[in-house]
Amino acid sequence: MRRIANLIAGKWTAPQDGKYFDDHNPATGEKIAEIPSSTAADIKTAVAGAQMAQPEWGALPVEERAVWLDSIASALEARSDEIAELESRDTGKPVALARAVDAARSALNFRFFAELVRELPDELYKMKDALNVVVRKPVGVAGLITPWNLPLYLLSWKVAPAILMGNCVVCKPSRLTPLTANLLAEVVTEAGLPPGVVNIVHGSGSKCGQALVEHPAVGAISFTGGTSTGRSVAAGAAPLFKKLSLELGGKNATIVCGDADLEKTIPGAARAAFMNQGQVCLCGSRLLVERSIWDEFVPRFVAYVKAMSIGDPASCDLGALVSQEHRKKVESYVVLAQEEGGTVLCGGERPTLEPPFDSGAFLEPAVIEGLAPDSRSATEEIFGPVVTLHPFENDDEALAIANNTEYGLAGSVWTRDLERGRRIAEGIDTGMVWVNCWLHRDLRVPFGGIKNSGVGREGGRYSLEFFSEPTNICLMEA
Ligand code: NAD
Repeated sequence: MRRIANLIAGKWTAPQDGKYFDDHNPATGEKIAEIPSSTAADIKTAVAGAQMAQPEWGALPVEERAVWLDSIASALEARSDEIAELESRDTGKPVALARAVDAARSALNFRFFAELVRELPDELYKMKDALNVVVRKPVGVAGLITPWNLPLYLLSWKVAPAILMGNCVVCKPSRLTPLTANLLAEVVTEAGLPPGVVNIVHGSGSKCGQALVEHPAVGAISFTGGTSTGRSVAAGAAPLFKKLSLELGGKNATIVCGDADLEKTIPGAARAAFMNQGQVCLCGSRLLVERSIWDEFVPRFVAYVKAMSIGDPASCDLGALVSQEHRKKVESYVVLAQEEGGTVLCGGERPTLEPPFDSGAFLEPAVIEGLAPDSRSATEEIFGPVVTLHPFENDDEALAIANNTEYGLAGSVWTRDLERGRRIAEGIDTGMVWVNCWLHRDLRVPFGGIKNSGVGREGGRYSLEFFSEPTNICLMEA
């Protein structure tokens, strides 16, 4: 059991009011750490630390900052087993997933942005008699607020482009999963990054996150989390005219056409529904199946899901949900789905497991059919291992069902006919659609949602643009 500290202006710092939260491993219930319950006073000190460091950091050539990103990437790569282990203990996710996805991407995020900036052409616009040169300046201090589902993966996705563009950052990770943010704090300290460039303050959203959003010296807020929290973040940031990026919830459709290759589609749709126990914003939690293959698809899909192993995160396909509280929320949706006329084809129960996992927050993956596409369980984000099945007759009906939610984050289409796949993809009102794959990521492409799934885009040059202010200089001969 360890007690972790905030990293403020290069110093390990206890919370000013001396209060801590307990951090638990949701797979066992074991207490694994104590984390600062920081307040506005700690945020104030951290922002002051970032402000002190920013002028010198922002004045470095971007190529020098890119070298710092490479060093951080190398240090994270060297600790990838530890990252996987910590992420699994903090979130309950399988270690193998944490290694392949969380640990690998966290290091890659730093490596990727460092390389990207080296390849970016200058932004020049020639006129007959003048030349426009667009210069990118740092915003100043950026506040980075992240959720619990992909803790270091999402934090590093923001820290890397933010510091690359010359900003100093104050990070507020989820209080449920602080351990790898603390590892990042260790990495930047050991690498010798100038004090104050990366500050990490742990605490609750209401006391600590909100103070960061409302701090007048923070010029940009990059927030990833739930849609209702995003609403209050937007309300706090708007009167101060901050730059704001919001990556919010999703209720994504997986559309399976009658001609899909089921050998590939069934594992693909199951992965989209249940990866990370269904706790990925991009998860395909509504599975739309063309009526012509419904009778074949449904039993094969259910058999595939039933065969997924659940339990010890060191060896199983599915681990625990992030907390007992979150499991109760997900279970309440399984009950609601039945009240709304749904039939549970498998899962939705707590599995019986041997100690030490007998009191962990596990839930068998649930497949539910028979729900109206506009029911609450088929339109609200559950963010757990629950997928609802819906038949469709033709592409128009598939699109009507897919678009019938307040969310607009992602989706996938499965068909052998790429033209049809592309046509359906273009009709889905989301920021991202995959055809015959899911979560196949090229880090250069725009990432983000529309409707209540967010505002703005991250990824590649979109992130670099968010974390900088363009200044146009128009040069004319004297
Ligand atoms: P959450 O909104 O409860 O919390 C996210 C972060 O915001 C946490 O650090 C939290 O402490 C902080 N926070 C809470 N209240 C705040 C406030 N008033 N002011 C400032 N900060 C505050 O979300 P969560 O439960 O941690 O994560 C799950 C949600 O995140 C899901 O809805 C999921 O879809 C979404 N998500 C979206 C993406 C994306 O890229 N679109 C990625 C991952 C997760």
